[in-house]
Amino acid sequence: MKPENSSPQIDYDVAIVGAGPVGLATALGLRQRGIESIIVLDQTRAFRKVGQGVDLLPNGLKALKYTHTQAYENIKETGNKLIQPNQETKAEKNQPVPEWATRNVNGQKIRSFSLGYDDFFQKYGEGRVSISWYDLQTQLRTLLPEEVVKANHRCVNVVAEPEFQCVRADFVSNLTAEANPYAHWENKQQDDKTSTVSSSQLPQSEITSIRAKLLIAADGINSTVRQVIYKDTPYSEYSKPEYSGVAAISSGGVYDIPEALAQEIQEKFIKGSRIVTILNQQIAANSTENETPRIILFSRQSGQYGYLIHTPLPLELLAGKSGKELIDLAILELKKAEFPEIIQQLVALSSPEQMMQRPYYIHRATVSGPNQPKWNIGRVVLAGDAAHGMPPFMAQGANQGLEDAAVMTTLVAEIHKQNQWDDMVAIETAFSKYETLRRPLMERIQYATLTRLPLSSEQHRQEYAQQVYTRNIEEIMQTLL
Ligand SMILES: Cc1cc2nc3c(=O)[nH]c(=O)nc-3n(C[C@H](O)[C@H](O)[C@H](O)COP(=O)(O)OP(=O)(O)OC[C@H]3O[C@@H](n4cnc5c(N)ncnc54)[C@H](O)[C@@H]3O)c2cc1C
Repeated sequence: MKPENSSPQIDYDVAIVGAGPVGLATALGLRQRGIESIIVLDQTRAFRKVGQGVDLLPNGLKALKYTHTQAYENIKETGNKLIQPNQETKAEKNQPVPEWATRNVNGQKIRSFSLGYDDFFQKYGEGRVSISWYDLQTQLRTLLPEEVVKANHRCVNVVAEPEFQCVRADFVSNLTAEANPYAHWENKQQDDKTSTVSSSQLPQSEITSIRAKLLIAADGINSTVRQVIYKDTPYSEYSKPEYSGVAAISSGGVYDIPEALAQEIQEKFIKGSRIVTILNQQIAANSTENETPRIILFSRQSGQYGYLIHTPLPLELLAGKSGKELIDLAILELKKAEFPEIIQQLVALSSPEQMMQRPYYIHRATVSGPNQPKWNIGRVVLAGDAAHGMPPFMAQGANQGLEDAAVMTTLVAEIHKQNQWDDMVAIETAFSKYETLRRPLMERIQYATLTRLPLSSEQHRQEYAQQVYTRNIEEIMQTLL
């Protein structure tokens, strides 16, 4: 038996909570820089298809390329196949790259951009790819040794142990995941639809604890670690994400559309695209674009449609709504914003079982009160959505998270190189550099996301692209050292 006050074993240099894109990219970056004593723990019972599509834009791709080149190559390949799946023959290779157009309610094009890699590459020195969240996770996860990424570990507590120069984290297994109204998927769905085992069939839950020199919390917008480390601090009011004021009402499928209606929608709005956004330009001109309801229509093969309506709604209006009530609410919002009858008719044909609603939440990068919530408390640091999650209106959530991963990788690798794992001054300095670099940019990105101002004119668009897409990530990382 160990004497009572002997030091416990430190299991890892770095423990990462959350095997989403940010946690996994960080783990890959750290391993590539020689830090092998790493573990990534995720609450999911098993890795399986969940989540939505994610657009990776030049800044996110540059950050990923810097962090782990092979991950970047694999993800680029997977994403490009999704946009242009059949590239075998010469004719297929010459097919035009699909575009995403925004149209007004009369069907006139307001703006558009190519969904392919090359157009962005030519403009910003790096391209764009679309990829499903699951494919992104899988591509990153499979580059790590199997024993490094563990499922079925929900972090429930984190405790600083300064006397042992480490942090302890406690995990439970075999529990049904808690409802998570803040995330981009519902855990209920994850568990009900894809799991073949119910929690009652699993062995009793176990609590496991691990100790690490540093703990990176990449556990998403409803971060448990954030709630634990902010508890009883001046930041406690920022533990949970705040409602952004805008919600999505969506349908996975509208079937059985009368031919005449389908044809009219095709000719007026879709015009051969796979995806189109429609908004009332008159309303957008007098308010920010986010205060303007808009519908994103997905045209599927075999004449079916899916859609996503983004609209400002009080939270109470959404709570507990049935599928039928969501359809009625969606039609009401479209009517108020003077959308044409044909769009309202299409929404009226939605199947109630396919309806979903999703309020969007945010962790503000800067708050108006005196206590800016710090992104680290001692040896624990927040990254990705856990630090600054936000709505997806400028498609920057994952991209900004990948920038965090690049910065974290650089700074923690330096701690490793200098063997400063026990040097709290060096650790605090590193995390403060991370925050000083990332917080001002996050503030700008969140402002752009909440107003969609960059989309309001060509000049704003260009300024935004300069600020966000064209930066030289490698050079920025050098400034950290
Ligand atoms: C509709 C929609 C579309 C989007 N589109 C885009 C886009 O086009 N471009 C873009 O850049 N971003 C997009 N995003 C945002 C993007 O998905 C997120 O910003 C990104 O996934 C955040 O990555 P993350 O690793 O920080 O967190 P997450 O992806 O949320 O991953 C967190 C991980 O932590 C695990 N976890 C949670 N709690 C615990 C716990 N207590 N213990 C252990 N594990 C835990 C979860 O299981 C999960 O695997 C979109 C989001 C939405 C809602």
